[in-house]
Amino acid sequence: MALSTSNEKGYFCSMKPFTELLLHWYAANGRALPWRQSQDPYRIWISEIILQQTRVAQGMEYYLRFVKRFPDVRSLAEAPDDEVMKYWQGLGYYSRARHLHEAARRMNGTFPRTYAEVRALPGIGDYTAAAICSFAYGMPCAVVDGNVYRVLTRFFGIDLPIDSAKGKQKVEQLANELLCKERPADYNQAIMDFGAIQCTPRSPQCDCCPLSGGCQAFALQSVETFPVKRHKTKVTDRYFHYIYVRAGACTYIHKRTGNDIWKNLYELPMVESEGAWDMTQLLSSPTLAQWLHPGETPQVHVIEPEVRHQLSHRLIHAAFYEMILPEDTLSFSSFLRIPIEHIEEYAVPRLIHAFLEKYL
Ligand code: SF4
Repeated sequence: MALSTSNEKGYFCSMKPFTELLLHWYAANGRALPWRQSQDPYRIWISEIILQQTRVAQGMEYYLRFVKRFPDVRSLAEAPDDEVMKYWQGLGYYSRARHLHEAARRMNGTFPRTYAEVRALPGIGDYTAAAICSFAYGMPCAVVDGNVYRVLTRFFGIDLPIDSAKGKQKVEQLANELLCKERPADYNQAIMDFGAIQCTPRSPQCDCCPLSGGCQAFALQSVETFPVKRHKTKVTDRYFHYIYVRAGACTYIHKRTGNDIWKNLYELPMVESEGAWDMTQLLSSPTLAQWLHPGETPQVHVIEPEVRHQLSHRLIHAAFYEMILPEDTLSFSSFLRIPIEHIEEYAVPRLIHAFLEKYL
């Protein structure tokens, strides 16, 4: 990657050793990502939101498709909700897409130019505001994300828990002290790339690390104990029973609403239970009884008894059933009836998408 070196531009006169070493590492190892070729705050914003909880390799394709279809604030603001969700389908964390859309609508055609205005947009926290303002406008704002927590706690041997107020404050303060004020964008990108490539969560490459001489965790031979956390993420099990209805050439779907996962995405009719169920329990559930028209006796069989789908805080145990009903059925009248061949047009969670790809 063609990055400027320190000596060519004489940037490093006032820098701390950590910062200088990091920028040297970045000059040789930084990633040439498409959004880094741009100072357009809109494109930087889209890339940052996509990359939250998404790996670069997966996010790249989504980013390119998204900015091709929605090249600026106005085109995103004017797009229908369902289309934005469709472009996000498969990325997960769908509140990101809803917030993007809402923020674009609030911007009135122009991306805001101050940190306070950027930070006030829906879906933008301290990290994203600092990333946009430093990358697009060259503002001296240090980013603090998971990579930064890991690199700084290891290098400086900070054993305060990063999920405590004191730990957060310590790392944020340090990040701002270390920021290269002359090159905030390069510095921020450097520390994130360093965390993603060199100082990785598992098996960091300490043996060939240019920072190892000053790294406290390396000196203490306790690299993998940093960063320290007080609480582990609690994962809840949920049990979903999906019903793929076939009524002639049609099926039924609905849009998820409410403050639960996958809001605004479509799914097949689904019954949720407290624990694992077999087909007999599903068929006797009051929810299913409400959907079936009295007098209609569907044929039902299991397609997938259990598919496990991991989300950040939940493990979904999904079962899929096929239900055959007459073409002119009166059941599922509260659902959206669509031709099966049109189901691809609707944005669905990745779990449903994988099922449809496999069975349709
Ligand atoms: S020596 Fe290891 S732990 Fe320390 S900064 Fe380098 S990669 Fe990270």
